[in-house]
Parts: sequence; structure tokens; C-alpha cells
Amino acid sequence: MYDVIIIGGGPAGYLAAERLGHRGKKVLLIEKQHLGGTCLNAGCIPTKTLLNSAKQYLHAQDGQFGVHAEKVSFNLSEMMAWKEKVVGNLRGGLASQMKRFKVETLSGTGIVEVQGSFRGVRFVKEGEPGSGVLYETKAILAAAGSVPVLPPIPGTEGNSKLIDSTGILSVSGIPAKLCIIGGGVIGAEFASLFGMLGSEVSVVEMMDEIIPPMDKDHAPLMRKALRNTGFHLGCRVTRIEGGNVFFTDKDGTAGTLAADMVLMAVGRRAEIASWGAKEAGIDVTGKGVTVDNRMRTNISGIWAAGDVNGRSMLAHSAYRMAEVAVNDICAWLEGADSKDFMRYNAVPWAVYSNPEAAGAGITEQEALSRGIAIRTASAPMYMSGRFLAENIPGAPGTVKVIADERSGVLLGVHILGPYAPEMIWGAAALIENEMRIDDVKELVFPHPSVCEIIREAVWNF
Ligand SMILES: Cc1cc2nc3c(=O)[nH]c(=O)nc-3n(C[C@H](O)[C@H](O)[C@H](O)COP(=O)(O)OP(=O)(O)OC[C@H]3O[C@@H](n4cnc5c(N)ncnc54)[C@H](O)[C@@H]3O)c2cc1C
Repeated sequence: MYDVIIIGGGPAGYLAAERLGHRGKKVLLIEKQHLGGTCLNAGCIPTKTLLNSAKQYLHAQDGQFGVHAEKVSFNLSEMMAWKEKVVGNLRGGLASQMKRFKVETLSGTGIVEVQGSFRGVRFVKEGEPGSGVLYETKAILAAAGSVPVLPPIPGTEGNSKLIDSTGILSVSGIPAKLCIIGGGVIGAEFASLFGMLGSEVSVVEMMDEIIPPMDKDHAPLMRKALRNTGFHLGCRVTRIEGGNVFFTDKDGTAGTLAADMVLMAVGRRAEIASWGAKEAGIDVTGKGVTVDNRMRTNISGIWAAGDVNGRSMLAHSAYRMAEVAVNDICAWLEGADSKDFMRYNAVPWAVYSNPEAAGAGITEQEALSRGIAIRTASAPMYMSGRFLAENIPGAPGTVKVIADERSGVLLGVHILGPYAPEMIWGAAALIENEMRIDDVKELVFPHPSVCEIIREAVWNF
């Protein structure tokens, strides 16, 4: 009998497997596609690899800072090959980690089975549908992740011009005109990628602004800076015909966009059906599996971490949820309760577009809508020597800090500009530790660095 069977080998699944193996537990990990899940195979890693190629191309073209390059070009198939190599290397690394921590792995589909106090997972091999093999276990961690949402817009089915975020990572050519439906983080990153590579990009977004977690002063700067990209905000797509996207704005005025390729990037939904959650009696809502802050489901002995519970659909959230679940599973196996629980208030988000952006904690708008009395302070990045040295005049860059009005406790930090995704963990740590503005003023930041701008902003209170 296994201590734990994990369904899904994405960030939540493989990290839990490593941690459980490290603690000497007998673990089986079942993955139906590739180790690494969406993040490694169709998300974080391939997008950032391609974005890096596009940024290199842009910098070489721009001929700035006394450096000139002649006849700059890019080769898409070489870019794709580099992306595959990076993904392949990381996949190999994960397979080694599983061996190192003595985690058994199986390639196929896992389906939960619950009968009274019996907990098991049925393993069905790819291409061999049927009853499969039932493995008994003390605990189960569901880490089945999420899949792209395909809304029921007329014209989506069988449309060869329509592509999702996985398909677009393997295109053989750059579309002259790309229409992206959805201006969230994924839509914005693809807009930046294809805009830098020369596509004329149009983003149709139903909300009034792009990238929901972004500060509302920063989002317009981001829109302005995204190369070759136009936006249709507050617009609902009504139908698609081939590459023609029909939409209406808030006043009911109709519009059309003609594109060579249409990317559907309206979000992702938790993967529920493939692992038999409902049949096993696990509580599920439209967002995903219902869990408490220790990742427990309503069924004793079953936990759910990562995108599958819909609480925070980010790889680093999946990692932390997996650790919380592992701590609780280990305590439970010993008849105890874990003291570790998941907190979401300082989970950072990041966009690796050009320019980059990141944030942690609440935005000014969120504070106002929740009736939280706050103070805010901002600083432009041109106050940073390193930013000035490395960026062309007028490049966007700004930081906004949000603090509780009375206590001065830091509630949010929002950054638009270079290195934002690398800096944000520090800001998240300040928020997580409930530091006050005066505490942050006493911290020493490295000089010259772009992160000094957080210190500048804090001194602007
Ligand atoms: C284009 C794109 C870019 C992204 N960029 C970022 C980013 O920069 N930063 C970030 O934090 N997040 C990013 N994300 C989100 C990130 O990929 C997810 O939050 C993360 O992968 C969630 O991890 P997970 O382990 O919960 O699920 P997943 O990574 O989705 O893994 C779940 C795994 O379970 C497997 N599975 C499902 N059902 C079964 C079954 N019944 N049996 C066996 N196996 C099963 C699936 O095949 C999959 O491999 C991006 C997503 C996309 C699509």
C-alpha cells in the first residue's frame, strides 16, 4: 500500500512528490502527459523562453547605448528548437528528481476510488482504456491542474484559424495579423511576444482594463508600451468566422477585426472530469475542488493542490499549496494536525512582457472597493541610476506602494518595468511579514539597482 498517490505531475504534483519522498514516504505519481505539467510544457517555461528570444531580437534591432548590429533577423524554427531544448532539459531534471526521492511514476490516467474507508487510485494506461489497475493508498493528492477555457462563442468549433495558448507555442510562422481574445496575463504576454516579432496584434478584452491584478495607473502605461498592439476594451466577442472576429462594445456598437490567427486566451478552468472527483463524492464548484486552507477536500484522506482547486492559478501558488498539503498529509498519517496553512494575501504575480510587471498584495482600487483606508506613494524608475543606464529615455518604469493609513503596515507593492518579476518576492516578503513603512525605510538596498526604487517610493510617503 502507498502512503500517498499523487494524480498529476505539474508543479503541485511533482513538488509534493519530492517533499514526500524526502520525508521517506512511499509515493506513486501518475501523470497522463508529461512531467512538469502545464507550467513546464505549455505555460511558464516555453512562454518565457520565447519571450526572451523576442526581447533579444528587439534589443539587437534598437541599436542603443553605442552598440549597433547589422541585418538583425530572427529564425522562428531555431527559437522553437531552443524552447524545446529548455523544456526537455527541465523535464529530464524532474525525472532525475523523482528517482532521487524514490518516487514511483506511472504514465497514464489516475482515477480516484472511494469505498467506505478504502482509498485507491485506478491507473489506466494511455491507449489501453478499460478497467486498469487499482492501487490502494492511505492518502491521495489531486494535482490535476487546469485546461484552457473555450467559451461557447459561435464560430469557435472546427475553426482552423482559432488557436489556444498551447497550440500557439508551436506555430510554424508569425501571423501578419493576430487577434487575441482576452487581455489577462496570458493574453498580454502573447501580445508582447508576437508584437515584438512583427505581428500586428489586436487584443479584445471584455473588462475595462487589461491584466486584472495590475494597478489601474500602470495598466494604461503597459498598453501604450506593448509594441505593435492595439486594444479593444469593454468589448464582448459575439462570433468568429474564420479569422474575422465580431464584437460589440459597451454601447452596443458592433466592430470587426480581420486576423490571420485568433488566439483564445480567456482563462483556464480546473481539470475535474478526468480523475473522477464528482463520482468519488468530492465537493466541486465552478471554480474547482473545494478545499480548506490546508488543502483538505471534504473527503477524509483526499487533498487537492494547485490549479485544480482554482484558488490561485499560478505555478508558485501550486508549489506552496503542495507543501501545505504535504505537511498536513504527513501529520494526518501520524494522527495529528499540521500547523501550516495557505495564505494568499502576498502571493506575487508577474507578467514577462516587454515591459515587465509584477505585484503583490492589494491594489489601490481593491483597497478602495473593500473600504480599507490606505496611503499610497509612487516613484518613477528614472530615479534609479541602473534603470537610467540600461533603458532608452522615456522607457516605462514605476512603482506604487500601498500601506494601511493608520498603522503604516505595507499592504501592496506594484511594479511596472525591468526586473519586476525578479524584485517582487522581496516586496511579498515585506507584506507577508506585515512590515511598516518605517521598518522598510531602515532596510539597506543594493546600489545601483532598480529595486532601490521601492525604497524611493517608501520615502515618498
Ligand atoms: C501560457 C501560460 C503561461 C503561464 N505562465 C505562468 C507564469 O509565468 N507563472 C506562473 O506562476 N504561472 C503561469 N502559468 C500558470 C501555470 O502553468 C499553472 O498555474 C501551473 O502549471 C499549475 O500547476 P498544477 O500542478 O496545479 O497543474 P498543471 O501544471 O496543469 O499540471 C497538472 C498535470 O496533471 C495531469 N493530469 C490531469 N488529469 C490527470 C489524470 N486524471 N491522471 C493523470 N494526470 C493528470 C496533467 O496532464 C498535467 O500535467 C501559465 C499558464 C499558461 C497556460
